[in-house]
Amino acid sequence: MSRPSVQRGVLHRWGSILPLTENTPLISLGEGDTPLVRSAQIEAMTGLDELWFKLEMCNPTGSFKDRGMVMAVAKAVESGAKAIMCASTGNTSASAAAYAARCGLESFVLVPGGKVAAGKMAQAVAFGTRIIEVDGNFDEALRAAREITDKHPIALVNSVNSFRIQGQKTAAFEICETLGEAPDILAIPVGNAGNITAYWRGFGECAERELATLHPKMYGFQAAGAAPIVLGHPVEQPHTVATAIRIGNPASWQGAVGARDESGGLIDAVTDDEILEAYRLLASKEGLFCEPASAASVAGLLKLARAGRIQGGRAVAILTGNGLKDPDTASRQYTPDIAKAAATVEGVERALGL
Ligand SMILES: *Cc1c(COP(=O)(O)O)cnc(C)c1O
Repeated sequence: MSRPSVQRGVLHRWGSILPLTENTPLISLGEGDTPLVRSAQIEAMTGLDELWFKLEMCNPTGSFKDRGMVMAVAKAVESGAKAIMCASTGNTSASAAAYAARCGLESFVLVPGGKVAAGKMAQAVAFGTRIIEVDGNFDEALRAAREITDKHPIALVNSVNSFRIQGQKTAAFEICETLGEAPDILAIPVGNAGNITAYWRGFGECAERELATLHPKMYGFQAAGAAPIVLGHPVEQPHTVATAIRIGNPASWQGAVGARDESGGLIDAVTDDEILEAYRLLASKEGLFCEPASAASVAGLLKLARAGRIQGGRAVAILTGNGLKDPDTASRQYTPDIAKAAATVEGVERALGL
């Protein structure tokens, strides 16, 4: 495999902290290096001294999944794999399909029937992946994917693949680099729990490398209808508007509990109403259009603030995915106020009441 020179991307930028070998192809779609922007208005509603948003929705396929997927697919190529597979609530399949297309691999995605947001399905279709809609939920799809990839020469690229976690930890390094320190609090949605596990590992490595002195408290938020870690037992029929975290039995359950307990943090549940309130606030007060699952991180901070459980400090909330992925939820949230007018100055003035 030739090694084209890549100017950016997670493998290029963070190769020194990743398990690369001289045979790992430095593939990239330009993932990582996402903006960290300070809150304009929501900060004042939280009791925090500083609230920042990490815009993981700015990754090439519109979610943080690209950070881990680039690593997992590079390793699959390195090992000689010809095909990859994942189970997915949508974003993992969009990402897997993109990197597979890029690398000339065949890809198979198992998605839960009828529960994948339209934008994510459109991506998987566009990238030419083989889509198998299973008659079951995400947890059942993941179980099938694990068994099939054990049986056949197909690489599994769910976050149970440790290279995914390795790639995803790079976001913690970017945050420490930008702020010059780790934040006091990291707020993050929790679905299959790979990402909270990856950030906790990343912040630990940042401290070891003296890029930070703090270990942030990890605040994970699940949707109330899909909150197995909060409840302490798997949820058979998870339900939530935030389809990316509609998971009843997280594969990285232990990693999430470890991150919570070692950091002195918490994992709490937020209702769909709280998620959608934060989703609308992010758009109307910050100009940030994320998908519902991402808004769970901000919903959680607002919930804690209302309960008087936040006393200052600096928090980073991870906005994991782009709002454009789920246009149906967006259209259900708003009644567009659209006036009609003749295409003339007078017509538009009349419509605007000027
Ligand atoms: C995958 C995903 C999550 C959940 O991340 P986990 O690692 O499964 O906990 C949250 N938000 C979005 C947009 C996602 O795509």
